[in-house]
Amino acid sequence: MKILVINAGSSSLKYQLIDMTNESVILKGLCERITFAGGKLTQKTFDGRETVIEKDMPSHKEAMQLVLDAMLDEKSGALKSIDEISAVGHRVLHSAEDFHSSVVIDDEVIRICERNVELGPLHMPGNIACIKSCREVMGDVPMVAVFDTTFHATMPQKAFMYGIPYEVYEEHKIRKYGFHGTSHKFVSEETGKLLGNKNAKMVICHLGNGSSISAVKDGKCQDTSMGFTPLEGLIMGTRSGDIDPAAVEFLRAKLGLAPEEVVNYLNKKCGVMGISGFSSDIRDLTAAMNEGNEKAKLALEMLAYRVKKYVGSYIAVLGGVDAIVFTGGIGENSSLVRSLVMEGMDYCGAVIDLDKNAVRGETYINTKDSKVKIMVVPTNEELSIARETKELTQVK
Ligand code: ADP
Repeated sequence: MKILVINAGSSSLKYQLIDMTNESVILKGLCERITFAGGKLTQKTFDGRETVIEKDMPSHKEAMQLVLDAMLDEKSGALKSIDEISAVGHRVLHSAEDFHSSVVIDDEVIRICERNVELGPLHMPGNIACIKSCREVMGDVPMVAVFDTTFHATMPQKAFMYGIPYEVYEEHKIRKYGFHGTSHKFVSEETGKLLGNKNAKMVICHLGNGSSISAVKDGKCQDTSMGFTPLEGLIMGTRSGDIDPAAVEFLRAKLGLAPEEVVNYLNKKCGVMGISGFSSDIRDLTAAMNEGNEKAKLALEMLAYRVKKYVGSYIAVLGGVDAIVFTGGIGENSSLVRSLVMEGMDYCGAVIDLDKNAVRGETYINTKDSKVKIMVVPTNEELSIARETKELTQVK
């Protein structure tokens, strides 16, 4: 069984073809500059064969056609016929309150997604355009929508509500949704397998360019740090994370920004990029800190401090914790950030082993005596989407 996983943005389309008999990647690729001049597809197969096609893609339909052509190419592809693809899994940003799990795509699902574009205006149009194009060029192949939000649908109401009038929540659905759900689901399941206990209490720290934390018990999300949009919560690469809403209006007026510019500013110009003044990349910041750059040091300390605060609050939410888990580009690779977060957490029984923490690829980085497991579990969002797609299309 081969599953095609598609992650489409407004002008880009990432794809992976996965053999579900052993969960191995057959090929992966990327279409760039869809709808712009200078379109380009790049693809690489598991055995190292590479394809580059430079061709304009006026819409997602041409992009999807190009993807199929590249996968079917006799020399550089990996498929003889499109019929070898059993199902397609589409990453979709937002489920709103309409879906509580992944769903097999039909006309009604697309209509609901279209209605929810206002909740994800930057991503949803590309997601939907790609689903429609894929149906046009691939015909009857079953397709599944896997949402970034649905893993968090199990949050209790007291966790997802904001302190605003109830009728405003009801009418406009303004609430915490949470994102990175495919990663939190994948990593919490992998952690459950590693611990031999899928009911364990876990705090999952997905730290990448975008970062979020979730509190998971019995395999279900109890709370998460991202909110109505991915801007809430942690200090990220270029996102501010939590900030007093009154400061936002003050900042907007002082900087002379238009109302529609201020959210973009908080998403793109803030975070560790804004604090350090030169980079959103933890590697750059770590190198600069080691050379004595004080702002880089501050940015790293602030990022880790905010993670620590959320970890502590989620341990309180869960009533204790069995495992604190790091994942994502920073969580998997930055021993510095992990050590800053875990510093001084002995009070709750979580003690990091700094030698193990320094070893790349080590799963357990806690000391022998630590009551709480501290773990590094690599995420795999594409595989998470493929597993969901397999599960849903086999049932049908
Ligand atoms: P995205 O949210 O875009 O998926 P990733 O999860 O790939 O992001 O994480 C990207 C971040 O991971 C980069 O900003 C970089 O700071 C960090 N990162 C990647 N490799 C390393 C490394 N070896 N050491 C420290 N940080 C790293």
